[in-house]
Amino acid sequence: MVHGQGGVKFQNWAKTYGSSPELYFQPTSVEEIREILDMARKQDKRVKVVGGGHSPSDIACTDDFMIQMGKMNRVLKVDKEKQQVTVEGGIFLSDLNVELSKHGLALANLGAVSEVAAAGMIGTGTHNTGIKHGILPTQVIALTLLTASGEILECSESINADIFQAARLHLGCLGIVLTVTFQCVPQFHLHEVAFPSTLTEVLDHLEDHLKRSQYFRFLWFPHSENVSVIYQDPTNKPPSSSSSWLWDYAVGYYLLEFLLWISTFVPSLVCWINRFFFWLLFSSRVENIAISYKIFNYECRFKQHVQDWAIPIEKTKEALLELKAALENNPKMVAHYPVEVRFARGDEIWLSPCFQRDSCYVNIIMYRPYGKNVPHLNYWLTYEGIMKKHGGRPHWAKAHSCTRKDFEKMYPAFPKFCSVREKLDPTGIFLNTYLEKVFY
Ligand SMILES: Cc1cc2nc3c(=O)[nH]c(=O)nc-3n(C[C@H](O)[C@H](O)[C@H](O)COP(=O)(O)OP(=O)(O)OC[C@H]3O[C@@H](n4cnc5c(N)ncnc54)[C@H](O)[C@@H]3O)c2cc1C
Repeated sequence: MVHGQGGVKFQNWAKTYGSSPELYFQPTSVEEIREILDMARKQDKRVKVVGGGHSPSDIACTDDFMIQMGKMNRVLKVDKEKQQVTVEGGIFLSDLNVELSKHGLALANLGAVSEVAAAGMIGTGTHNTGIKHGILPTQVIALTLLTASGEILECSESINADIFQAARLHLGCLGIVLTVTFQCVPQFHLHEVAFPSTLTEVLDHLEDHLKRSQYFRFLWFPHSENVSVIYQDPTNKPPSSSSSWLWDYAVGYYLLEFLLWISTFVPSLVCWINRFFFWLLFSSRVENIAISYKIFNYECRFKQHVQDWAIPIEKTKEALLELKAALENNPKMVAHYPVEVRFARGDEIWLSPCFQRDSCYVNIIMYRPYGKNVPHLNYWLTYEGIMKKHGGRPHWAKAHSCTRKDFEKMYPAFPKFCSVREKLDPTGIFLNTYLEKVFY
């Protein structure tokens, strides 16, 4: 019989949200998951699955039953000819990257971290950058879902096609994702070049930058014009890296955390901190070549609050200039660096922030130096106002203030998603507080 542990405290990576599940399970088989679902039904409990616990919101929280899928993490099938891999939903991408590389394969795109589960990262629509590339769930070509009734559904473009378009970005509310099949590409190396620029230059030549580099993104240092442009492109050149740069980077971040902590007492320091660190770490050209996942992933050193909305790509300049003006007009509102600006191709996934439109993601951040909370409400509301005005849709993993009414306006396919959810989970066993705000 499956054993649930009491007294476990769950906290997300940033330690910004947590919960105290009554029972915490780490099942090793589908039969055990079915037992947990039976037990939950009998005791009138809800169930939440957690992957890597990286979502910077309460989307994975529950005080009822929590299922951690870390023991269902096998690679089930590698089809080298079709370049496809089928994995259990609990596998971390960090393990998958290594496994794929043994077969000469790779995922075409990855987010900043790989300590996330395959089913977890698609659950919230994780994205990276590159206007030729969709959000990460666009790499999913099939999945299997264990529904509230205990039935297993195979889903793909050709089988249960509607459920597939819903489940590729499932919010953890359609059932338990048991397996995921990814379309991969041949393993590749990336050449990363980072160089300084200005906000005006990048916004005025956005089209050129998007054409020049396959995985183009930029970091804007708020309270200034400074920008670090980052190009990443496939290369046949051998790996190389600048170790002194890595050293500067590590030392720089210890100093940054200390200075940000000081700035919690003197907020006006933030604009100087942003400028100083741009000068220290980002004002010269840096190059690096490595296997793709080592370039896609980067160190997110300390805990943070984040927001990340996707706006139609043609609104990029207007929205960023409004954010810049709002900061200039309100000196008491401080913004930590960077504002990270990334791009993604439009897709057909019902709840994708890029649904049917090429998009620009604008990620804002407020660090929590030594775990200290930093006031950010004003900045958050100003940012949300600008994003909403430009037709933005929030990242599902990241805390936002939207409710069902907003999502109905934002997502043409929202009613279709709701009806699939209601059909698959009529009693709402997979809901939690976060999801109630989305669906009620
Ligand atoms: C340091 C850091 C860097 C990040 N970088 C990026 C980035 O570059 N781009 C980006 O878009 N996002 C980024 N994120 C956000 C992150 O990618 C998402 O939060 C992602 O969903 C995390 O995956 P996870 O496995 O930790 O999911 P969790 O947070 O554990 O869960 C996410 C959702 O999936 C559900 N779920 C998990 N497993 C299953 C399953 N087997 N069946 C059904 N439901 C399941 C959960 O219930 C929940 O609803 C970052 C977060 C952090 C902390």
